[in-house]
Formats: sequence, structure tokens, C-alpha cells
Amino acid sequence: MSEHKETRSTCCYCGVGCGVLISSDGEQITGVRGDPEHPANFGRLCSKGSQLHLTSTPLVQAQRRLQQPMLRHQRTDALTATDWDTSIAYVAQRIHRCVQEHGPDSIGFYVSGQLLTEDYFLFNKLARGLIGTNQIDSNSRLCMSSAVAGYKQSLGSDAPPCNYEDLDHADLVLIIGANPAYAHPVLYRRLEAARAKRPQMKLVVVDPRRTDSAQDADLHLAIKPGTDVALLNGLLHICFWEGWIQADWIAAHTSGFDALRDSVRHCTPEQTAAICGVSADDIYQLARWFAQSPASLSLYCQGLNQSSAGTAKNSALINLHLVTAQIGRAGAGPFSLTGQPNAMGGRETGSMANLLCGHRNLNSAEDRAEVTEFWGIPELPAQAGTTAVDMFEAARSGKIRILWIVCTNPAHSLPSQAQVRAALEAAELVIVQEAFRDTATCAYADVLLPAASWGEKEGTVTNSERRISRVRAAIAPAGMAKPDWWIASRIGQAIQAQMQEKQALRLDYPSSQEIWNEHRALTRGRDLDITGLSYALLEQEPQQWPCPEGQTTGKARLYTDFQFAHADGKARLICTPYQPAIDKINARTPFILSGGRLRDHWHGMSRTGVNPAAFAHQPEPLLEMHPQDMAARFLKDGDMVSLRNARGQQIWRIRANPALRSGMLWLPMHWGEEYVWGCSGDIRNLGANTLASPALDPQSFQPELKFASVQLQKQEFP
Ligand code: SF4
Repeated sequence: MSEHKETRSTCCYCGVGCGVLISSDGEQITGVRGDPEHPANFGRLCSKGSQLHLTSTPLVQAQRRLQQPMLRHQRTDALTATDWDTSIAYVAQRIHRCVQEHGPDSIGFYVSGQLLTEDYFLFNKLARGLIGTNQIDSNSRLCMSSAVAGYKQSLGSDAPPCNYEDLDHADLVLIIGANPAYAHPVLYRRLEAARAKRPQMKLVVVDPRRTDSAQDADLHLAIKPGTDVALLNGLLHICFWEGWIQADWIAAHTSGFDALRDSVRHCTPEQTAAICGVSADDIYQLARWFAQSPASLSLYCQGLNQSSAGTAKNSALINLHLVTAQIGRAGAGPFSLTGQPNAMGGRETGSMANLLCGHRNLNSAEDRAEVTEFWGIPELPAQAGTTAVDMFEAARSGKIRILWIVCTNPAHSLPSQAQVRAALEAAELVIVQEAFRDTATCAYADVLLPAASWGEKEGTVTNSERRISRVRAAIAPAGMAKPDWWIASRIGQAIQAQMQEKQALRLDYPSSQEIWNEHRALTRGRDLDITGLSYALLEQEPQQWPCPEGQTTGKARLYTDFQFAHADGKARLICTPYQPAIDKINARTPFILSGGRLRDHWHGMSRTGVNPAAFAHQPEPLLEMHPQDMAARFLKDGDMVSLRNARGQQIWRIRANPALRSGMLWLPMHWGEEYVWGCSGDIRNLGANTLASPALDPQSFQPELKFASVQLQKQEFP
């Protein structure tokens, strides 16, 4: 019998980034508990985190894990098991040949916020440094890119200024476009505890649904979906009209005031109330509380980000913080929550088509030169790559010929599923690097590369408050699985062997620690300078960035001196005119389809789907509709309905939910085609976002996943 041990690591689900202690017997993970010393959770775990060990039981490892490389030379063939040498040589040879024949931009890398920072870093080096393409983008494009663009254009840097402790100091917490009671549960417990200690704290929730978070609120504004910018501009109008602004502070620390004030002159409470479908009194109340509270904190997530106006929504909210000087103090600031465990790490390593490592910008010649010199290569490509949705469109049209998909499931999660699947079929070679072997995307793979999973790999992740934590291996990877960085390193070296001009580029690393050291060296002098954060220091205590060399503690809050990251030190007030969602509601498609997370499931359920307890809360996918809308269509709970728009058709079982606005439908994001219960016949549901709009925010290129117009009909089965 091997010895029992506990390994300190981090939960692999949401962006709260809770510390965990993994129990193992040396061969198997036997339990998990919250790390009482981790500053993100102080020992607490939610229903997902506390059951993490159930996702790597021997049965799951045997039945669901991808344990060895699989390969097929023809699409018509079945995948057959192979070894690492064969699969590495095959992938390297196909990529090299494709680059020679069609150029570097014929290769597309679609990576994931589930990756560790070291994995991200190496895939960037492989794509940009070795192959010479910026065709690398992350599934974080679907969740965080509007927050990135909003922070950058308003404050000058992609840096959330707040931290979790701010919940203990806030007098008003505004939750807008987020449901942390389900999506960030441990953070929400912290908010509940803070309210219990300080009953004067106000909680306001802006959400079209009366979510669990909204039910606890002092004020809930159930705005019409997609009208957030109108509401935020209306709040600004009231602040200007009532004089609830900090004029001296605005003059000293911001630019663009006159234009912003002029742009919201027409946004009266009455007009705002009409657009948003809530009362003018409630809007007034929120404006008063926000401006007059000693410290106002806003928490926001996908409800703002997943929109064709996502960047505008982010900047409109930051405008409100700036004109009321609710920033740079304990308990005050715009705090964007990250969905995935390491969406922040992706931003830090530049794992999006328009970014570069160390918070550099691809369109800056100076930034490119710094990275080029550091890596010892002749040049980096300057042309931005295609972003997530467009990457698959490029594969469908033949511009991208090889797709390498790492730790994500686009055949479930991207909008316009029919086109995504057509892209996967059109690509000459689809490489899927995964821990689980039965995702919808795995079915399209020509090469399956087994990746190490949670509890099996070493590295770091950054949570929503810029806090970097170590992720550590408690057991060896299942079967022949390898860390994601190892796979990138080995295939990169095999490609490099055929490219004489790139011999100086280092791709050979003995450990994740050496990759981390290179990553942090590349942040020297940048806003996220982490040159002081060695693995040894992080193992003592997770730290927030920045933390330059010579320091041992990161920075808890940003902009406390009101020096913002734009060249003039001022924050920018951005005019954000309200634009309705791209899809239109009309007689043919009269309903707005939105969606989101359930409490106990995660993404496409490749992990939570193996845990029967995770289905206790809601065992099957149910489309929710307001009871009056159901009665008007003679629908009752349990009926099957068909949803349809130009992008496709789906069939779901329906149930009444009075927490929704009339005219709205809501669907959990977790179920894909393999999980449709109770329906038979010819129609097969594809991924959850089949009907979602592919409309993109023009700055962040984030798709509009929260607003699709659909038609609904009762589905009769023989
Ligand atoms: Fe994991 Fe998030 Fe739950 Fe914490 S709140 S245990 S990080 S899922």
C-alpha cells in the first residue's frame, strides 16, 4: 500500500481560483478539501470543487480518459492507437509540409482557458516563434475578450484593479451580467458573509432573470436582454443631472468628460426606463446608491462580455466608476470576473490572435522587437491572426488547412454549430489534444493527443483578482498522457528539426518551471511584471501581480495613486452609444434565447458529466420560459418544443420559470448532442450554441452568445 499524502494545488473549474489539498495514495486521487491557507477561499469549496476527486476515479480514468495517442491517415478510417514517437513525427511532418505549401497562416491553433500558463506560453512560442503565424486564439475569446478591450481602452491596461477582499469594504455591490451564486460560488459565499457582518451594505443585481444572486438583492433591475449600455448611460445621465459626480477628480484623472456628458444628454430616466423595461424609480435608486455610497464595487461577467456591444458595455460601466471616483480605493472599482480557471493566464501570455506575451500588443513594432530579440529569431509576423469564430470560418473556406485544438470543445461551444462542424470536416488535418476522449470535437479528430489532467500536471494559473497560484501533480498522468506543454515542446522540436533558420529558438524544456522562468523574464518592466514570482515564492503563498524582482508580495489593488495606464496617466471616458443586439425580434422569430451555467456543472460536462451527484440539482437540460408565455401557447411543463432560426434547429423539453422576463427563453449551456433525453426521430441537437448569433463585437471579436432570436413550436412525437 502506498503512502497517503496531501498535495497543495488549485481547483480547475472557475476563475475564483480556490486552493485545494488533494489526497492521494500515490497512484489514485482519493479526496479533496479546501486549502485553509489559500487567500482566495480560506478552505471553502463549492459543490463542483468539493467533488473534484470524483472526476478522476479509476472507473472514470478507464472509461473516459484518453490514455494513448490515436491516429488515422484517412478520414474514412477508424482511429487506431499509436505511440508518441509516431504521432509526434506524423503531426510535425504534416504541419511542416503544409507551411511549405500554403504558408504559416494555413495552421490554426485554438487553445483554452483550461490550460496552465506554461502550456499557453509554449503554444504561443510554437505558433508565433517557430511556425511564424498569429493564427492562435483561445476559447477565452468567448468569455473574456470584451473585458480585455474595455479595460484597455478605458484604463490603458488589461488589469482588473480590485481584489476579493474589496467585498469586505464595499458599501454597494453591483452585480451586472453575472450570477456568482452559481458561477463563482465561493466568491458569492464571501459576499454573503460580508453582508452579514455589515448589514448596511447594499446589493443590486442587474439581470433579465431573477437568478439566485438576484433573489438576495436589495434591488433587482430585470432589464430587457441586451440593454445594459442604455441602463449604464441612463445612470450616468442621472449622476450628471443631480451633480453626483466628482468634478475635481474627473478633471485631474480622466479625459473625454465633455464628450461623454454630451453623449448621454438624451438618456433621461424615462427614456432609459422605456428601453430597458424597468422603472425609472429603480434606475434612480441605483444611481443614488452607486454615486453616494462611500465605496461601490461592480462584479460582472458574461452578461456584459458575450455581446456584440461587449466592449461598450464594459467601458460604459467603467465610465460610471470614473465619474463617481469609485475606483482605486478599498471596496471600489470595476471588477471583471473570469469564467475559466486560467483565462487570465491566457491574457498574460498573449494567447489571443491580436496580443503578444507579457501584455504586449501585436500591432506594436517595439513590442514585437522585444519578443523577437528575447527569443533569438529573425522576426515575428505582424499581421493579426483570425479570432475564434473567424478561425473556424477560415478553416471552412480552406484558408486554414490544419486545426490544432487544445483542451477545448468547439463542436459544443462555438456559435453556428453547423458551420463549425463543416469547418472541422473541411480541414485537411484536425489535431485534438484532450484529457477526455468523448467530447463532440474528438469525433472530428485525425490525431488525438492524450493530455494530462487536473491532479496530474505542474504549473500556474491566475484567478480573477490577478492572483497566481501553483497547480501541482498529485499522481502520474493517466496512461500515456503528457502535460500540454510537453506535447507542444516535442512536436515543436520535431518541426524545428526541419527548419534551419529557427534553430536558435528554444523549445526544449525539462520542466514547467523553466517555462515559467522564461515567461516571467519576458514581463520585466511591463504592467504585469512578475519577475519576483519564483515557483518557490508561489509555493509559500499565492501572489497577485505585479510583483517585480526584489519584492515578495504582489499588489493588492491597482490605480491607488489614480495614475492610470494610458501615456498621459489619465483614464479615458469613452462615449458608448446604445446599440441593440444584432438579431431582431419579429413575428417569425419572436423570442430571445439566452443561456448560461447551472450550479453543479462545468462547460460541456466532460468533467462534471462523469459525476452522478452533479446531476442531482438538475438531471436533464430544460428550456425555461415564462409561465404566461407558455399558457399563451398551450404549453405545459414537460412538453417538447422545437427552436429554430436561420442557424439551425433544436428540440428541448420545456418548463415554466417565472424568474424570466416574458419573451425570453433560457437554456443551460452544458448539454450537447449526446445528452438529449426524451426525443427521438430525425432531428438531432448539436452543441448548446447551435442557434446562437455569430455576430461579433467589433473591438473584442467576442460573439453574442446571450441574445439569439428564435421561433418556438410545440413538437409532437408520434
Ligand atoms: Fe472551484 Fe470555482 Fe468552486 Fe472555487 S468557486 S471550488 S474555483 S468551482
